Amino acid sequence: MIFVCPKCRGKLNITEGGAAKCAEGHSYDRSRFGYYNLLLSERGGTHGDNKDMVEARRKFLSDGYYQPLASRFASIAAELALPGGVILDAGSGEGYYTLAVREACQKAGVRVAAFDISKDAVRLAAKRGAADEYAVAGSYHMPLADASVDLVMNTFSPLAKEEVERVLKPGGIFMMAIPAEEHLFSLKAKIYEVPYKNKPGDTTLDGFTLIGREEIKYDMKLDTSDGVRSLFMMTPYAYRTNAEGRARVLSMDSLVCEAHFLVLTYRKDLA
Ligand SMILES: [Zn+2]
Repeated sequence: MIFVCPKCRGKLNITEGGAAKCAEGHSYDRSRFGYYNLLLSERGGTHGDNKDMVEARRKFLSDGYYQPLASRFASIAAELALPGGVILDAGSGEGYYTLAVREACQKAGVRVAAFDISKDAVRLAAKRGAADEYAVAGSYHMPLADASVDLVMNTFSPLAKEEVERVLKPGGIFMMAIPAEEHLFSLKAKIYEVPYKNKPGDTTLDGFTLIGREEIKYDMKLDTSDGVRSLFMMTPYAYRTNAEGRARVLSMDSLVCEAHFLVLTYRKDLA
């Protein structure tokens, strides 16, 4: 397995019953959906995106609104992926981008591992066959050995830079998609009195060299109230918006809205 034991970081072997077990005897059951739960603490409650959010995003993505991003992201990954390499989707959600990258990287021996902290999301990723291995795990404690990954991808997930650096091989690739200035501006204009554009942050990453920066920008035409609703429900605005703003958004039956992304590609420094 690509994933390692989250407790001791030892190699995991699959037992006859399907469980993953390390030499220290830590054991993890395989869920019937095909993923392993490698979260260290199960404090109860739901981790990460809840079911409604995951479902809204699944619906929105399957309508193809972010397809231009997915296909561009995947072709950049395909240019950089090495035969026999390991690709990790850190915070894969329901595997929409994972699958796009996996399909684009049809090189000999490329293996893809995906994890997310949301069980509901990982279940969907496993269902669509987005990767070779799936785990429920968090970005701040990745169940991966040091220097074991050739390419880490991150689409709109919290960035745990130290962990990305730890698991990547020297010279390995880190690809990240983030919202750019005008992303969803028209939606925000419906929600807030004074909508703000996203602020472009500092793109330098200590220990990495930026080797690619690409903007992707287009208008999305949402022409049903369902489409508007799915977009709204999958964003953090869904739980940050007051009742009034929420009602305003949910009463719309169409919206033309900006999609604006930045794809950043880095190479981990050799030493
Ligand atoms: Zn262990």
